[in-house]
Amino acid sequence: MVLIHRITDILESLGVDPSTMTNGDLDVFSPVTGEILASVATDTPAAVTEKISAAQLAFREWRSVPAPRRGELVRLLGEKLRAHKDALGALVTIECGKILTEGLGEVQEMIDICDFAVGLSRQLYGLTIASERPGHRMSEYWLPIGPVGVISAFNFPVAVWSWNAAVALVCGNTVIWKPSEKTPLTAIACQQLFLSAAAEFGDAPKNLSTLIIGDGSIGAKLVSNRGVPLISATGSTEMGRKVGPVVAERFGRSILELGGNNGFIVCPSANLDMALTATVFGAVGTAGQRCTSTRRLFVHDSIYREFLSRLKKAYASISIGDPMNSENLVGPLIDSDAFNAMQTALRNASQAGGKVHGGERVHESKFPDAYYVRPALVEMGSQKQSVQTETFAPVLYVYSYSDFADVLSLHNDVPQGLSSAIFTNNLSEAENFISPLGSDCGIANINIGTSGAEIGGAFGGEKDTGGGRESGSDAWKGYMRRLTSTTNYSTELPLAQGVRFTLSED
Ligand code: NAD
Repeated sequence: MVLIHRITDILESLGVDPSTMTNGDLDVFSPVTGEILASVATDTPAAVTEKISAAQLAFREWRSVPAPRRGELVRLLGEKLRAHKDALGALVTIECGKILTEGLGEVQEMIDICDFAVGLSRQLYGLTIASERPGHRMSEYWLPIGPVGVISAFNFPVAVWSWNAAVALVCGNTVIWKPSEKTPLTAIACQQLFLSAAAEFGDAPKNLSTLIIGDGSIGAKLVSNRGVPLISATGSTEMGRKVGPVVAERFGRSILELGGNNGFIVCPSANLDMALTATVFGAVGTAGQRCTSTRRLFVHDSIYREFLSRLKKAYASISIGDPMNSENLVGPLIDSDAFNAMQTALRNASQAGGKVHGGERVHESKFPDAYYVRPALVEMGSQKQSVQTETFAPVLYVYSYSDFADVLSLHNDVPQGLSSAIFTNNLSEAENFISPLGSDCGIANINIGTSGAEIGGAFGGEKDTGGGRESGSDAWKGYMRRLTSTTNYSTELPLAQGVRFTLSED
């Protein structure tokens, strides 16, 4: 299979000229075949500084455009995405390896967040608050904050930008996007779609949304620049540990969306058919490369043997291969580093007493430069050090439990806190799971697996996941500055808390 010709057609249909991508210094590989798709030019540190200045200039204009009018630009972006969904979805699949239905689903998520942000553009409301002083009105307003730096990971190469950009733009901000160095083509295509939406919009300032291509070192230039008041960074906890302190040191604001280590509890009353499908999709979907992938499974000991045997059968039936072929449920890992990390995790689990099923490389002779693996199940016995870190690959650690309180504490006994799930038809267990005694994650689902969030809710997690929230609900408030204002419409000047300050002018 050679993808280079296919990619040329796809890029052209997205308005990108492929001939501009042959002489750059960053080679872009497809995980599907391992072939080089393009060589794109990276930005220099000086170019980053220039783009930040340009984004600040654009912000000065954009902040005073009425929010519903700003929403019109995002509506047009959503229309462009609708019209190009098939091409962009295919490009996502070719560049990051997720199966085509998930590539298309990722673009649908972009369309959904655009729709959400358009509605939001008429709802950026503040409170009026009762003043303690007579003849006074107190209220709060939400105002644009400035250029927003968006750093994104390879596994959601386009959706993460749209979650941030659609909301940030209606909030009156400009956007500077540093995508993963592993997936610059999808970013270049999105930028092109954005530019064509901006052209249709008519009077949008230049450089409303700009792109920076490069690795973490070029991302670091964005992170340290005081001209970018908000950094929204999605990626590993390791990356967040570097980015968070740099932004905090300059008193900037950050939204950190970092790694997960997501647990899934199957209780005796669960619908096991539903639990099985949700477990398998959660653990092997996107080849285990979602921040919300299911990584730890806790099954009640009364159903453990039955569930494990069904799980093994389901795993044996999973077809692995070309993600463009709709018969395959699992595509490739992103690269050899991901494969090596998976093998190390399986070795460590095995040394810690785990029984490993699967995990081996497949299709090696057909695709010597691509990394397809059979998803692995590991019967762990008890939770060990080896499961405390996130391995970004399809590895599912399986445990049995007998006591509900014990499984809750075992579930929470990892550094990360992104997503979690319980399958039960017992009301008490379900309510406990989402109570203060339950899951300590940002997402806790009942009879739904750990992965596949909707855009309407706020997305993010606690602890080493970074605490950030993006997408729906009131996450937009993270993209604005809050201003509290009190107006005195009386003829007196009473001070708060009854403080007296009387001037004598004789
Ligand atoms: P990564 O941490 O290797 O890279 C993510 C991004 O950070 C890339 O664009 C990279 O260039 C940039 N980066 C790295 N160091 C930087 C620095 N010092 N300053 C600025 N930018 C820097 O992650 P990855 O391998 O691309 O993605 C996988 C990880 O992302 C997993 O841990 C996954 O759980 C996490 N993730 C989290 C979410 C979430 O919403 N919580 C979503 C998707 C992925």
